[in-house]
Amino acid sequence: MKNILVIGGAGYIGSHTVRMLAAKGYNPVVLDNLSKGHKEAVQGYPFELADLGDKARLAETFKKYNIEAVMHFAAFAEVGESVKEPSKYYHNNVAKVLDLLDAMVENNIHYFVFSSTAATFGEPVKPTINEQHPQLPINPYGNTKLMVEKMLADFDVAYGLKATALRYFNASGADDSGEIGESHNPESHLIPIVLQAAAGKRPSIKMFGNDYPTPDGTCVRDYIHVNDLARAHILALEKMAKDNVSERFNLGSGSGFSVKELVDEARKITGINFKAEVAPRRPGDPAVLVADSTKAQQVLGWKPEYNLTRIIETAWNWEQHRKY
Ligand code: UDP
Repeated sequence: MKNILVIGGAGYIGSHTVRMLAAKGYNPVVLDNLSKGHKEAVQGYPFELADLGDKARLAETFKKYNIEAVMHFAAFAEVGESVKEPSKYYHNNVAKVLDLLDAMVENNIHYFVFSSTAATFGEPVKPTINEQHPQLPINPYGNTKLMVEKMLADFDVAYGLKATALRYFNASGADDSGEIGESHNPESHLIPIVLQAAAGKRPSIKMFGNDYPTPDGTCVRDYIHVNDLARAHILALEKMAKDNVSERFNLGSGSGFSVKELVDEARKITGINFKAEVAPRRPGDPAVLVADSTKAQQVLGWKPEYNLTRIIETAWNWEQHRKY
């Protein structure tokens, strides 16, 4: 299996996965509508400007490149926005994925790697979240991703479509080359916002809530480097093709850091004492989200290689030299 269609390959996690696929000898093909992605992030790979729900273009692309597997990254992924605009999320993250899966079945493509999320679990009932944890999302974003996980289970039974759902915790950092990295407009994610404050591009950072039931009152998250996620996709694809089974894995570092801790670490790494102020809670945020990735370690042999310091260092390098 060599020819992999990467939907959303011009986006943040997609572009890092494309780069790693190519480095490992695969032939990635990027399909992206560039609504969020960046043409500059597609560095010399075959590119199709199309929407993920466009079945005719998908069929054409599958044939043109003799596609054998699909990795799907093209989703709206902002918790706060999903609370305000759920319709947009259900259309893009659910309805269009149904079209995509139909197109795969119609064109006999059997392997799918799906970007799922820690947000499918909702409020944790245990300190760390493994694959057995109940899935009770508390925001529309998490609902959309869980719906697709359920669709995938049904498509496997009925049509034999094999799928691996990867529940990312907080994707972060940038490629060591500094050529690709995270770029959202407007930016909503914590690490880029913190580093934009450090770079003087924002007056301050707002910490959303300091009255959560956590040691310092700010939300705790599990930050995982984008290249560790990219590597997990390739391992998951290889395992799925070898065993011909559908799987689910939680991908995180297993360590939680609070918003305040992250701000302190970023001040240390950048050497800049940027301003951080407390602001109201953001709707839809669980207090703590930390992964238990034992299954990915045991089944895929996957282990994160980047710690929080390296995550912030690579993100800082990107922030200072970014091309898009
Ligand atoms: N956060 C914050 N200020 C910001 C952006 C995010 O305090 O300007 C917090 C947010 O409430 C959450 C954590 O940082 O607790 C990570 O948020 P992010 O949007 O990066 O990722 P998410 O956890 O929503 O996937």
